[in-house]
Amino acid sequence: TPQTERREFQTEVKQLLHLMVHSLYSNKEIFLRELISNASDAADKLSFLALQDAALYEGDGTLQIRIETDEAAGTLTIADNGIGMSRDDVVANLGTIARSGTAEFIQSLSGDQKKDSRLIGQFGVGFYSAFIVAERVEVFTRKAGLAADQGVYWSSEGDGAFELGDWHGEQRGTRIVLHLRDEEKEFLSSWRLKELVRKYSDHVAIPVMMRDEPAKTEDGEPPAEPGWSQANAATALWTRNKSEVSDEEYQEFYKHLSHDFNDALSWSHNRVEGKLDYSSLLFIPAKAPFDMWQRDASRGLKLYVQRVFIMDDAEQFLPLYLRFVKGVVDTNDLSLNVSREILQNDRTVASLKSALTKRVLGMLEKLSGDAEKYQGFWNEFGNVLKEGVTEDMANQETLAKLMRFASTETGDAAQTVSLADYVARMKDGQEKIYYLVSDSHANAAGSPHLEVFRKKGIEVLLLSDRIDEWVMGYLNRFDEKDLEDISRGALDLGALEDEQEKQAQQDTDTAFAGLTGRIAELLQQDVDSVRTTHRLTDSPACLVVAEHDMGAQMRRILEAAGQ
Ligand code: ADP
Ligand code: MG
Repeated sequence: TPQTERREFQTEVKQLLHLMVHSLYSNKEIFLRELISNASDAADKLSFLALQDAALYEGDGTLQIRIETDEAAGTLTIADNGIGMSRDDVVANLGTIARSGTAEFIQSLSGDQKKDSRLIGQFGVGFYSAFIVAERVEVFTRKAGLAADQGVYWSSEGDGAFELGDWHGEQRGTRIVLHLRDEEKEFLSSWRLKELVRKYSDHVAIPVMMRDEPAKTEDGEPPAEPGWSQANAATALWTRNKSEVSDEEYQEFYKHLSHDFNDALSWSHNRVEGKLDYSSLLFIPAKAPFDMWQRDASRGLKLYVQRVFIMDDAEQFLPLYLRFVKGVVDTNDLSLNVSREILQNDRTVASLKSALTKRVLGMLEKLSGDAEKYQGFWNEFGNVLKEGVTEDMANQETLAKLMRFASTETGDAAQTVSLADYVARMKDGQEKIYYLVSDSHANAAGSPHLEVFRKKGIEVLLLSDRIDEWVMGYLNRFDEKDLEDISRGALDLGALEDEQEKQAQQDTDTAFAGLTGRIAELLQQDVDSVRTTHRLTDSPACLVVAEHDMGAQMRRILEAAGQ
C-alpha cells in the first residue's frame, strides 16, 4: 500500500454517505450504472481534449471500460482509460460536494427511507453509491497528460475520512476497486454483472469489456488468461433508429444523462437532415430537481458535434423557461472546435434553439392529450413554463394553450383549467376572459371582486403564484379574446349587463356623488378616486387597482427586491 495521508470528508459528504447507504439499499445495483456512467463521461472528456491535442491519447486511443472481478479477494474493479484525475481533482471530486443547495437538500431528508430514496435519487448519488455495496473503495487514477509519477491513490471505508497518496500510474485513466461486503458477493458473478451492464449501460457509447469464462484446461496445466469480450451494444443511443430503441433503453439513457433516478415523463427523438443537420433526444423529467430555482443550477443539453462529445450543460440550445429539459443534441452544423463563446453568437445555434424549442413545445402539446400525465407535468414545472409567456413572443400562443389555472368553476386550488376549457364555457354575450390575481388562492377565492361574477355565474380564473401578475402582464389575448383582470379599473361587463343594470349603476353614481366625494377627500393621501360599484353584492367596499398601475403582487416583489 502506498504512503498515505488521512483527510476528512466535507460534512455534507459524511451526511449524504450515511443516508444514502441506508436509503438506497433496495436499489443497490445502481452503483454499477453510476460508476460506468462516470467512466463513460471520463472517456468523453478525454476525446474532447484530444481534438486539440492528440498526444493526450499517449498512443492508446481505443477508449473502453473494463470490469473485472477477483473471487478470492472479493473485489470488483471498474477501470477506464479516460481523462483520469489529478490530485486536486481527486480531493475536489471524491471528498466534497460542490453543488449549491446541498446543505438545504440534506436538511430536507427525513429518515423516512422511501421518501429519502426518492429525494436522493433526484439529487443524484454518483460515485458515493459505491459504498452501498462496498466496505472499502480504492481509486487508482492518473490524469491524461501528466507523468506516471503524478498518479493518485485514494481509499475510504465511507466512514467520514479517506486516505490520499501517490501512485505510480503507467496507465492513464481511473481504476476503481470495490471491496464488496460479505453479503454483496452476488456482484462477483459474471452472469449477474453482464445482466446489469446490458440493463443499465447498453447505451454507453464505448465498449464495456468483461472477461471471458476461463477455458477448460487439462489437469496440471496452468489456465491461460481469459480474453475480453464486449458486454454492451456501445452505439450512442441517439444515433440509432427510433424503431429499434425500446422504452427501457430510453429510460436508462435518461438516467445516465440526468443523474435522475426516476423515469422520464416523456421524450422526443429526432433526426433532421436538410437546412439543419442534427439529431436530438430530449426528455421531460417526471420530477423537478431539488435545485430548479437555484440561479447557478446546471441546465442545458449535452452537446455533440459529429458524434464527438463537446460539452455538458450547453445552455444556448433552449430558452431559460425550458431549463427543466434534459437531452442531447448532436449536430454536423458546428465545427469541432466550437466553444461556449462561439455558441453565444452563432446563427446556426439560434436556428437550432428555435427548432428544439418547437420540439419541446410540441412534445408538451402531445402530452397534454393525456390529462393526468400533463397534470403531473404542470404541477412540477408549470411555474417555470409560465415564464415563457414573458420571454418567448414567437411561441406565446402555444404557451397560452399549455397553461393551467385554478378557477371559480372547479372550486379548489388545483391548476387544472386551460384557457380553451374556459372559452368553451363562456356565457352568451361574454367577450372577455376574466381573471383575478392575488397572493394566495384563499384570498383570490374569497375576494369581493368575485361577487358580481358569482351572481351572474361567470367563471373567473384565480391566480396566486408569485410570478402570475408578471406573466399576465404579457398575456393579453387568447383565441381572439381579451384577458381582463377584474381587480383593475372600472369593470365593464359589456353585453353581460343589460341596459337596466347600466342605468341603475349610473343612478347610484349620481345619488352617492356627495358621499364618494367626501370619502375621497378624507382618503386623499391613500387613494386616487372613490366610486360606487355594482361589483359587490355582500361586501360594503373594496380596493381596486387603477387600470395601468402596478398590481399588489408586483409591488411586493419589487419591495422585497429593495426597489
Ligand atoms: P457526477 O458524475 O454527477 O459529476 P459523481 O459523484 O458521479 O458526480 O462524480 C463526481 C466527479 O468525480 C465527476 O464529476 C468526475 O469529475 C469525477 N470522476 C468520477 N469518476 C471518474 C472517472 N472514472 N474518471 C475521471 N473522473 C471521475
Ligand atoms: Mg456520475
